[in-house]
Amino acid sequence: MPRSPHIITCIKQVPGSTEVEIDDNGSLIRNAVAAKMNPFDLFAIETSLRLKEQNGATVTAITMGPPRAELILREAFMMGVDEGVLLTDRRFAGSDVLATAWTISQGILSLAPYDLVICGRQTTDGDTAQVGAEMAEFLGIPHVTNVRAILSSSDESITVEVDLPGAIQVACLHFPCLITVEKDIFQPRLPSFRRKLATRDKQVKVLCLDDLPDTDEKHYGLLGSPTKVQRVYPPRRDVTKEIVHGDPQTLAERLFHELEGRKFLQ
Ligand SMILES: Cc1cc2nc3c(=O)[nH]c(=O)nc-3n(C[C@H](O)[C@H](O)[C@H](O)COP(=O)(O)OP(=O)(O)OC[C@H]3O[C@@H](n4cnc5c(N)ncnc54)[C@H](O)[C@@H]3O)c2cc1C
Repeated sequence: MPRSPHIITCIKQVPGSTEVEIDDNGSLIRNAVAAKMNPFDLFAIETSLRLKEQNGATVTAITMGPPRAELILREAFMMGVDEGVLLTDRRFAGSDVLATAWTISQGILSLAPYDLVICGRQTTDGDTAQVGAEMAEFLGIPHVTNVRAILSSSDESITVEVDLPGAIQVACLHFPCLITVEKDIFQPRLPSFRRKLATRDKQVKVLCLDDLPDTDEKHYGLLGSPTKVQRVYPPRRDVTKEIVHGDPQTLAERLFHELEGRKFLQ
């Protein structure tokens, strides 16, 4: 009997405030601040739940983070996600994007078979929007980023609309594949109180480094991170001002050229 598609949705816990501190390695001190689910990942969850409603897929949410990241998996359960996996190990600490993408892709491999991996567009803390594409490379599967609509899906493939600068592309990807979804692809549902009660005792699967297919410590955490942070500083504020005089037509033209020159307009 054919099995139902398995969707893995990647979600991350991020600081709930911009009042954050940085340690000597240039890493955020995350334990000191309140945390929440990365808002972009709510769209990834909603996309996976819509597909589940269409074709009976099983949805697993996976997160890499400290033990308290379990909270966002519980939130995912309350939205309708079937299973939750927490990748947590002190040896993952200090991971840059490369080591993060490696660790989560190892977690995904240990959940195989899988058909579709769905990520958010980016996070609100690291903000690189690189993890999805890097994981697809590590997993050796096709991917598209910036998906703004799902046009159709079957047990074997998915057809999506991709938001490119100045163009919309339609792409059909055969499973297994990975997509990252845009904000507003669907309106995320609210966590349900009924599901909160129903999933209160549901177990989260916890995986540490020794549970992954690659157990070489050099590929994880600070050891597996080629990024070296030299300095962390707020961006310089440009406070130069120019006052332009003239009639409305001249002012409008000047403003237009100024915005165009700074690439605010396409
Ligand atoms: C030297 C260095 C040390 C660092 N040390 C730490 C550290 O100790 N702890 C720490 O938390 N961060 C650390 N970071 C930050 C961390 O590398 C990034 O936050 C992480 O790589 C994700 O990148 P991003 O936030 O830009 O994700 P993006 O690429 O913007 O995220 C895109 C999507 O990928 C998925 N995704 C991203 N991260 C995760 C995750 N963790 N779990 C599941 N899905 C995810 C989500 O779907 C997300 O929407 C460090 C960074 C550097 C450079």
